[in-house]
Amino acid sequence: MRIYLDNAATTKADKEVVKAMLPFLTEKYGNASSMHSFGQEANAALEAPRKIIARSLAASPEEIIFTSGGTESDNIAIRGIAYANRDKGSHIITSRIEHPAVFNTCKALEKEGFRITYLDVDKFGLIDLKKLENSMTKKTILVSIMHANNEIGTIQDIDAIGSLCKKKGVYFHTDAVQSYTKVPIDTKKTAVDLISMSSHKLHGPKGVGALYVRKGTKIVPISTGGAHERKLRPGTENVSGIVGFAKAVDIVKEEDNKRMSKLRDKLITELLKIPHTNLNGHPKQRLCNNVSISFHFIEGESLLMHLDAKGIAVSTGSACSSHELKASRVLLAIGLKHEIAHGTIRFSLSKYNTEKEIDYTIKSVKEVVKELRKISPLTKGD
Ligand code: PLP
Repeated sequence: MRIYLDNAATTKADKEVVKAMLPFLTEKYGNASSMHSFGQEANAALEAPRKIIARSLAASPEEIIFTSGGTESDNIAIRGIAYANRDKGSHIITSRIEHPAVFNTCKALEKEGFRITYLDVDKFGLIDLKKLENSMTKKTILVSIMHANNEIGTIQDIDAIGSLCKKKGVYFHTDAVQSYTKVPIDTKKTAVDLISMSSHKLHGPKGVGALYVRKGTKIVPISTGGAHERKLRPGTENVSGIVGFAKAVDIVKEEDNKRMSKLRDKLITELLKIPHTNLNGHPKQRLCNNVSISFHFIEGESLLMHLDAKGIAVSTGSACSSHELKASRVLLAIGLKHEIAHGTIRFSLSKYNTEKEIDYTIKSVKEVVKELRKISPLTKGD
């Protein structure tokens, strides 16, 4: 049995997605900027995807820019706003638990002379709205707070954050890479100006994403090149990727999200029966596919490797930070001690996971934890 429970890192492309993409790799391969019929065919093929992504956010197609993924969308949003609004100020507010695509972009901007406030979060991973408000000054140009966290699954109240930003006349960007199609966003109701999305987290292809930019937003491109993508993102459009991305969005079913929530809850309930464990992230306000558990007195890496040997793929922290031996910045920010952070495993589900797989996972984790604790010098003997 091979069980994939690392869907926050990436997902399997849906067969329907692959089918939709194929013609744009084999027959309709024109450059969307070319004037001949091949080019026009490719250009026309971008229209429907733009409408699909726009519709999913109650936005208009002109407000959607296709990019190479979440990282690029985050960069364009943050740097694009920062450089365009320098005349107003150079203060940006973000949080300590952002994905590196946002966090490291802010760190880089700090070196360029911008002032960055990194908001703390509470033990559930939520920012404090009062602290956000108190951090705002006349020089604040942007607030960038993620919609849902990739490690602990906590969903922020972007309605409240957006209202506050609107009241203060500050742009609001949210990284919705993990939440997109799992937690709805209605840009007619939520005062968000920029939204980052990525295709490969929702059964679309890798290397493609989108950025929503509200009409009237003052933003400049960060790359130089042609006039592609509303003059904000130059480069030949990845037509097959964009078609696949939109297909993936189009076929999302709410029932799948509900089913994932049920499996998530079963996994949480059963794993917390193991002594000396705790759930990370918010118990209710969390992604339908995220389970983050700390197994005390155990190294997360050992648990991961033992589960891998049983055919189960999970992650310690996020895929991006798991190359590092440092404890996760996110887990430390919610107040975990280093040794507890090191014993943390993220299980992230997809629509393809079955109850049988979850049952096998529960059984396997219980066995492995017991074995590892027997040999752990830190063990309490449980
Ligand atoms: N933002 C978040 C919250 C993510 O989880 C990820 C990917 O793990 C990214 C951004 C980066 O997206 P991409 O892999 O499409 O560059």
